[in-house]
Formats: sequence, structure tokens, C-alpha cells
Amino acid sequence: MRTLGIAGRIRSVQIDILTLFPQMFQSPFSTGILNRAIDQGLVRINIHNIRDCTHDKHHIVDDYTYGGGAGMVLKPEPIFETVESIKPDIKEGVDILPIILLTPQGRPFSQEIANELSSYRYMILICGRYEGVDERVREHLVTDEISIGDYVLSGGDLAAMVVVDAVVRLLPGVLGSKASSMDDSYAAGLLEYPQYTRPAVFRGWSVPQVLLLGNHAQITNWRREQAIKRTLERRPELIDKASLSLGERQLVDGLRNCLPTPPPSNLSLTNTI
Ligand code: SAM
Repeated sequence: MRTLGIAGRIRSVQIDILTLFPQMFQSPFSTGILNRAIDQGLVRINIHNIRDCTHDKHHIVDDYTYGGGAGMVLKPEPIFETVESIKPDIKEGVDILPIILLTPQGRPFSQEIANELSSYRYMILICGRYEGVDERVREHLVTDEISIGDYVLSGGDLAAMVVVDAVVRLLPGVLGSKASSMDDSYAAGLLEYPQYTRPAVFRGWSVPQVLLLGNHAQITNWRREQAIKRTLERRPELIDKASLSLGERQLVDGLRNCLPTPPPSNLSLTNTI
């Protein structure tokens, strides 16, 4: 097992990751916010090589699929054994410990799920490979299954990194200012407003005047309005679930009337020609 970081004095979160490729995690976890969180002891990440829990000479972790078919399947024994070797380290809440399988068949990952996971003190992530894991891992070991999108990756490692990154930045103390994650896209159900930095004019393109005048109330209103407009344009399905004031709902209704009407969904390319 390779440990990245030391648990600090303040309450820290422990994430154990099962993988066949531990080296993949070195670079992403040793840069930026994740690295700082590890150094500060806010999170402790243990990487376990599934191969270490094999007992045969060749450390075999996969085998042919029963019933025939292309590709290999990850065997259940080393995965069960690795998880069982981690559990005694877990000091509290082992009964509610999330054991998460990364799989394209899992529930779609979202900011809401990242929030939910950030409340746990411990979690275990299992990265599949090849054709996936033996079904008994799903049925009798894991408590949750997460997909990072409707596409198929070669392994769960990148997916685990995505989940860890999104969860760790929500942990108390990880981001410099708490406000910076609260304004992020999805945090309050909207996409974030546009951001600008210096220079005030670049190649003739100016930063909106309101941001330069220093009136904080006006800036807050402008940002809120921009976030609503942007969400309506890009992710209209989010707007109905967002928590908006009456005035903001009226703004949405007004904007909806101005938006170009989308073509009917049954219009195919052939009948537009
Ligand atoms: N045969 C599997 C299927 O069709 O559901 C896909 C196996 S995939 C090639 C190998 C591994 O990559 C999976 O076991 C899973 O751990 C990981 N993986 C692939 N796509 C993923 C996704 N969208 N989200 C999370 N994990 C994914």
C-alpha cells in the first residue's frame, strides 16, 4: 500500500483506492489543491494494488468470463481481500462506510453526489479494468456504484481521480475561501457567472463596466443575473430546480420569451433539406 499524506491534527478524511495501476495516481495527487490538502492532513489517500492480495505465483487478478465472450473479468477474491484488509484501520462508522465501484453502469456523478460523499470520514473506491469486475463484487461488497459519464473508459482509475478531486475540494479547509466553492457551477443549482481579470481592455474587448465600479451590491446582482441567463441558455433543465426568488422567476420567464425557438425534435436532417 502506498500512502499519500499524513493524517493531521484536525479531523481528516481517509480515502482508500483499489487499483491495478497505483502509479497512475502519483501525478494528479501530487499537484495543486489535492496535494495541498494531503500535505495539510485534511485528507489521507491510500492506494492499494489489487495484485498484492493474490496468492498465486503469477499474481493473477483476472480470468475468462463464464459463458464465453471477449475480454477478461477481474476476479472477486483479491478485491474482497483488499477491502477486508482496510476495514480494521477504520476507526468509526465502518457500518456506514461507502464502498464505491466506479462503473459506467453506476449512478451519474454530480455535484450533489460529491457533496454527499464529502460528509463521510472514510470511503473506499474500487477501480475496475478489462471487461469489469465479477458480479459478486457488486452484489455482496459494494454499497454504491458511480459513473462519471455516459461513455466507457479503459479503467476506473481516471473516474476515481475525478470523484476524489470533486469531493476533496469540498472538505472544510481545503479551498482558501469557503465562498469560492459556494459560487461554483452546480453548487447552488446554477452555472457560474462569467469571470474577468486584468487588463480591463484586451484587444479592444472591455470588461463589463459594472465590475469596475466597486459597487458590491450591483456586482452581486449582475453576477446572479448572468448566472441565471447562462444556465438558461446552456442548461435550461437546471433552471426549474434552482432556488430562485419571485423576481428571478419573472426574469427567467422574460428571457425564455426572447430565446430562439429550438427546432422540433422530430425534424431530421433529411426533411430539412
Ligand atoms: N464492460 C463494462 C460495461 O460495458 O459496463 C465496461 C468495462 S470498462 C472497459 C473497465 C472499467 O472502467 C470498469 O470496470 C469501470 O471501473 C471503469 N469505467 C469505464 N467507464 C466508466 C465510467 N463512465 N465511469 C466510471 N467508471 C468507468
